[in-house]
Amino acid sequence: MERTLVIIKPSGVQRGLIGEVTSRFEKRGLKLVALKMARFTKDLCAEHYSHLVSKPFYPIIEASMMSAPVVLMCWEGVDAVSVVRAMTGATDGRKAAPGTVRGDFCLSHQENIIHATDSPENAEKELRRFFRDEDYFEYDSPLLSYIYSIDEL
Ligand code: ADP
Repeated sequence: MERTLVIIKPSGVQRGLIGEVTSRFEKRGLKLVALKMARFTKDLCAEHYSHLVSKPFYPIIEASMMSAPVVLMCWEGVDAVSVVRAMTGATDGRKAAPGTVRGDFCLSHQENIIHATDSPENAEKELRRFFRDEDYFEYDSPLLSYIYSIDEL
């Protein structure tokens, strides 16, 4: 079982896509185990996008991520990181495949609706950045238990 972080970026919140995005992950069969709304600060942005801080377009990322609140979600499931990443699509919305969140809802490289963690190692780090232990909820999901019980995992 894996956990992964999804952030609905300010552009997704402003465009009223919170329900649409959340619904896709729910319908796919992932389990929502933590959820909150927050605002990015400069420090948080620099930490989260530390691999891009030196890029010429970083000021655009910073301004965009701080322009409105974000929605933070932790999704749980078998192979959750790669499943969610595949559903997210390529970084550049114009190159993202139809059927993915980015491929269906944006045409922009920067304003690409959501962030999704790219590896299990980063998932752990990123989830710790945004959630505390008490933010997580444990509950039964009989449908998911059934689905996993018929797969050989
Ligand atoms: P991803 O979000 O797909 O994991 P990156 O970690 O490379 O991709 O980039 C983080 C975010 O920075 C992207 O989602 C996008 O919003 C922004 N970004 C990355 N590269 C560019 C670019 N060349 N021009 C504009 N924005 C970019």
